[in-house]
Amino acid sequence: MSVLPENRSETVFKDFKPALTAKQAIVEANRCLYCADAPCIKACPTSINIPEFIRKIGTGNVAGSAKTIFESNVLGSSCARICPVEVLCVGDCVYNEMGVPPIEIGKLQRYATDTAIAEGWEFFEAGPDTGKSVGLIGGGPASLAAAHRLRRFGHRVTIYESRQILGGLNTYGIAPYKLRADAAVDEIEWLMKIGGIEVKTGVSVPVDLSWDALLAKHDALFMGFGLGPDSAMALPGGDLAGVEGAVEWIERMKLGLVDVSSIRHALVIGGGNTAMDAVRELCGLGVQNVSLVYRGTEAAMSGYAHEWTEAKNEGVAALWQTLPVAFEGTSGLCATRCVRLDEAKRPIAGSEFTIPSDLALIAIGQAKIGDLCAGLGIALDTGKVVVGPGGQTTHPKVFAGGDCVSGGQEVVNAVAEGRDAAIAMDALFREGRL
Ligand SMILES: Cc1cc2nc3c(=O)[nH]c(=O)nc-3n(C[C@H](O)[C@H](O)[C@H](O)COP(=O)(O)OP(=O)(O)OC[C@H]3O[C@@H](n4cnc5c(N)ncnc54)[C@H](O)[C@@H]3O)c2cc1C
Ligand code: SF4
Repeated sequence: MSVLPENRSETVFKDFKPALTAKQAIVEANRCLYCADAPCIKACPTSINIPEFIRKIGTGNVAGSAKTIFESNVLGSSCARICPVEVLCVGDCVYNEMGVPPIEIGKLQRYATDTAIAEGWEFFEAGPDTGKSVGLIGGGPASLAAAHRLRRFGHRVTIYESRQILGGLNTYGIAPYKLRADAAVDEIEWLMKIGGIEVKTGVSVPVDLSWDALLAKHDALFMGFGLGPDSAMALPGGDLAGVEGAVEWIERMKLGLVDVSSIRHALVIGGGNTAMDAVRELCGLGVQNVSLVYRGTEAAMSGYAHEWTEAKNEGVAALWQTLPVAFEGTSGLCATRCVRLDEAKRPIAGSEFTIPSDLALIAIGQAKIGDLCAGLGIALDTGKVVVGPGGQTTHPKVFAGGDCVSGGQEVVNAVAEGRDAAIAMDALFREGRL
């Protein structure tokens, strides 16, 4: 795996949810009611046995706690930092109904998993070799979870990743105040200790390696290639320097250096979670004037309300019911021309105005790239890979999970789908049906 560059813009960001000390973790763990029919487990896409791992922290068994977490979710350390717990496990804690602060499940999970990784504790080993082999396309959370589980079953695995660094968006997309790339890479190095996960980086499938070659080499394939480039806005001036896709810019900021010293006014166009991250990242890097431009109302934004509250607290302004119609400038972006929209999102006549902007990040979604596996003849739905139970596609040897199937969810969903596809493949291998 390539080493990350030392100089990365993301390193200026502090951890926004500092880790618990051992004492704080024990006190918090002992507040848990250990509900028999725990709603938090149902709210976790990877179904971690939350009361059990919390009970183990409470009794000082941190290794046992970490093992319980990783048993269900091998990316449990990054998920502890990045899961939107407010709408998942913590949101369903029974304390919410009693007017008592809910258990800090993410922070407890982080305490146990970070300790395990820092101490180098290893809980899993590869199963006896079955002779079966799986090729995984993409090295993001879905494929990593699938590869690790397949190794536990004793199957041979090879990950084919087009970039030079593993981890997918977990490494190059997550907001650095939640998870920095170095922490993501540390977790991957820890899970690789199971041994036998072969990795081929710099391989873009099927350009560098054909589907026929992959099917000839492996008994099954797993598609975990996520989503494609940022969707563009076909507007006049869209090719000016300073107009950029948000995910592309975030990757440059996380894995390298972005220079914002001359940016006085930055716009982020969109109302989803990538837009929420981008405005907060720009603020954190010191840009003085950061505005969100969204075509709908504040209430209609798909970005999490808790993220927007934080963004507002950090000084982000918003232009609601507003649509950019042109980017203006000569050598680079200087201003963005916008129009106001009515409730039905129709332009209001005579409402056009211009706002100064040196940088405009477009955060209106990412392209679905399922077409890249069209050569396999598998069913697609508007660019997403169609799967049945266990992530099996319409090709019996091909499985899929993560964003390339869902169209974009959370890391914890990708982990669950990768893990479950591995379990389904293993069952078919053992029954001699694959
Ligand atoms: C800006 C941003 C912020 C996010 N923040 C959060 C968050 O805070 N919390 C959260 O839980 N989720 C977050 N998400 C969502 C989360 O990152 C994804 O749901 C998750 O990473 C999906 O995992 P995946 O393995 O399906 O795909 P990805 O993580 O996208 O990984 C796919 C991998 O496949 C590789 N690949 C693509 N095409 C090919 C090819 N042809 N050949 C070989 N390799 C290929 C890619 O290079 C990539 O490494 C965020 C997403 C974005 C865009
Ligand atoms: S993986 Fe995420 S949703 Fe599941 S228990 Fe941990 S923090 Fe909560």
